[in-house]
Amino acid sequence: IIDIKGITRNFPLGNEVVKVLKGIDLTINKGEYVALMGPSGSGKSTLMNLLGCLDTPTGGTYILNGKDVSKMSDNELAEIRNKEIGFVFQTFNLLPRTTALDNVALPMVYAGHKKPERNERASQVLTQVGLEDRMDHKPNQLSGGQRQRVAVARALVNHPSIILADEPTGNLDSKTSVEIMNLFNEIHANGNTVILVTHEEDIAAYAHRVIRLRDGVIESDNINPNPHR
Ligand code: ATP
Ligand code: MG
Repeated sequence: IIDIKGITRNFPLGNEVVKVLKGIDLTINKGEYVALMGPSGSGKSTLMNLLGCLDTPTGGTYILNGKDVSKMSDNELAEIRNKEIGFVFQTFNLLPRTTALDNVALPMVYAGHKKPERNERASQVLTQVGLEDRMDHKPNQLSGGQRQRVAVARALVNHPSIILADEPTGNLDSKTSVEIMNLFNEIHANGNTVILVTHEEDIAAYAHRVIRLRDGVIESDNINPNPHR
């Protein structure tokens, strides 16, 4: 599903060039459950943004579902992103004045679906994440854990092939983090490919494979023989 060869990502900084990713080779198959770890500044979010087609690499190739996305135009990337990728962020990134239902339905607007279909699918995924009684609430009427559930439902709404989550429990207390991780376990059990970034070993323990970045390269890549259920 994901096939990356020799990916680099440089950022210009003044007259210098900062080399953030320094040649990454990575294959992730359909249905894998991967945790991406590594020190602050090691390039985790940069790599996630590339995986999620929010950004393109400086060098190397990225094949996603058989398509070379490393050289696509912004319009082509936007389309792939909307169809193939579900993104969950540490800070939820919900529209504040919009109900849970409409936040979740938003990616379907971009995908061109009609309103009745959008509302039906959005209520279906909100029910899946346990928020059937919170559909008309706005983000500030929801707890942090509930907001993250809305964000997860939004990530799922267009049936993406990959769910990417950059520190999805970073703003949650430990009890709520466990609830969100149980939800990711369910999503994985439903056949989704899940890739998440975390700083916490307890959270990485849910994944079936743990990749560690250091200074822009993969330092280790190990199967977790006993993932947390
Ligand atoms: P954290 O755990 O703190 O979230 P991270 O592993 O996600 O760290 P990245 O956000 O990928 O780290 O950043 C890696 C390095 O790339 C950092 O040194 C950062 O300053 C640099 N960087 C990221 N984005 C840019 C940019 N747009 N321009 C310049 N430098 C950048
Ligand atoms: Mg980061």
